[in-house]
Amino acid sequence: MQIQENFSLRKYNSFGIEASARFFSTFSTTEELAMLAGDATVFQENNNVEPLLVLGGGSNILFTHDRNGWVIKNEIPGIEKINEDENHVYVAVGAGENWHKLVLHTIENNWAGLENLSLIPGNTGASPMQNIGAYGVELKDVFFELEAWHLQDKTLVKFSAADCGFGYRESVFKNKYRNQFVITKVVFRLNKTPQFNISYGAIKEELEKAGVTTLTIKAVSDAVVRIRQSKLPDPAVIGNAGSFFKNPEVTAEQFEQLRNACPSIVGYPASLGKVKLAAGWLIEQAGWKGFRVGDAGCHAKQALVLVNYGAAKGSEILSLSEKIKASVAEKFGVVLHTEVNVF
Ligand code: FAD
Ligand code: NAP
Repeated sequence: MQIQENFSLRKYNSFGIEASARFFSTFSTTEELAMLAGDATVFQENNNVEPLLVLGGGSNILFTHDRNGWVIKNEIPGIEKINEDENHVYVAVGAGENWHKLVLHTIENNWAGLENLSLIPGNTGASPMQNIGAYGVELKDVFFELEAWHLQDKTLVKFSAADCGFGYRESVFKNKYRNQFVITKVVFRLNKTPQFNISYGAIKEELEKAGVTTLTIKAVSDAVVRIRQSKLPDPAVIGNAGSFFKNPEVTAEQFEQLRNACPSIVGYPASLGKVKLAAGWLIEQAGWKGFRVGDAGCHAKQALVLVNYGAAKGSEILSLSEKIKASVAEKFGVVLHTEVNVF
């Protein structure tokens, strides 16, 4: 392990924000993590600096200032089938494995369940954090259990799906246990026989366009990859962290009132009789799509994505996000919540 001081995090966050870490190191085993976390805790207590921050692929993070403390990057490797039963395979994955590489590995092995989640940036260890989701599938649908290092108790703890408290882009790691655990391993329960979910968005249309007559998990994954590449800004070209806000949920009553005022409003059934609104639509209607101030902007194709055109500061992106929130609240009476982790 090489410990670096005053280390630039620019290449380590998909927004491409210039921010530095007082100390930075990667780790590839739980033992290395334990050592670094121990050093970081002592340093924090003696110097009254910010707590340890764990980084995966940096694709769901906004740095608003230099980090006066430790940043450690999870690179724990490994993808291994550890068990199977009549219908499932159980696959244990090191938290540092790239998510899309894992998806491709499962497809090569004919293990079904991750195909709709193709091309989501970042690492496997962060996937339970916000119960990643796309095209009608969420991590919780294929999750079996995980292991996480408790920073205070210095022990490895197992979490079942129920323990993780998964919700819409939520888990206990984002709320109740924020900054308390480092996820080291995730175990997935994947299907031997695919259960296709192609009713969502443009998947069916994309499969037809590609002339697919026999449905396979590879065909679904390829379709999702093509749709995503056509719609979403590539962080390698324009800095971004995907959806900046979560899609808000409103009561059925509130939705009816909104629909009376704007008949073209988009809503989808959500849990507990609520209606999920497309935050991107609300932001677009409020006039922000394509807006740019300096190098901070609201993407021209997908208003839910805030972008860094080059040299935007994290604080400028945050300030833009606050203006968007205020304007949506004023126009629709709907509160947007930030999905990206702001530090
Ligand atoms: P990071 O950004 O490194 O970290 C995110 C948070 O998790 C931070 O708070 C960090 O401290 C914490 N963390 C990271 N690793 C660990 C760990 N091992 N243990 C404990 N805490 C940890 N998300 C979706 O849900 N669906 C999508 O379809 C989707 N599409 C995206 C498209 C684009 C173009 C981009 C840029 C992002 C997209 N995202 C999407 C958001 C992002 O890719 C996911 O949230 C992803 O899981 C983040 O992984 P990461 O490794 O980059 O996490
Ligand atoms: P889209 O297909 O244009 O749809 C816009 C929004 O409407 C989405 O946010 C989606 O909610 C909702 N939606 C669409 N069809 C739906 C249906 N049949 N049932 C329920 N909800 C529906 O969205 P997009 O921007 O191109 O993204 C496609 C998928 O990738 C979405 O699932 C999105 O969440 C995911 N994605 C996530 C991020 C991120 O950073 N979190 C970034 C890019 C893409 P949901 O978001 O709840 O699915």
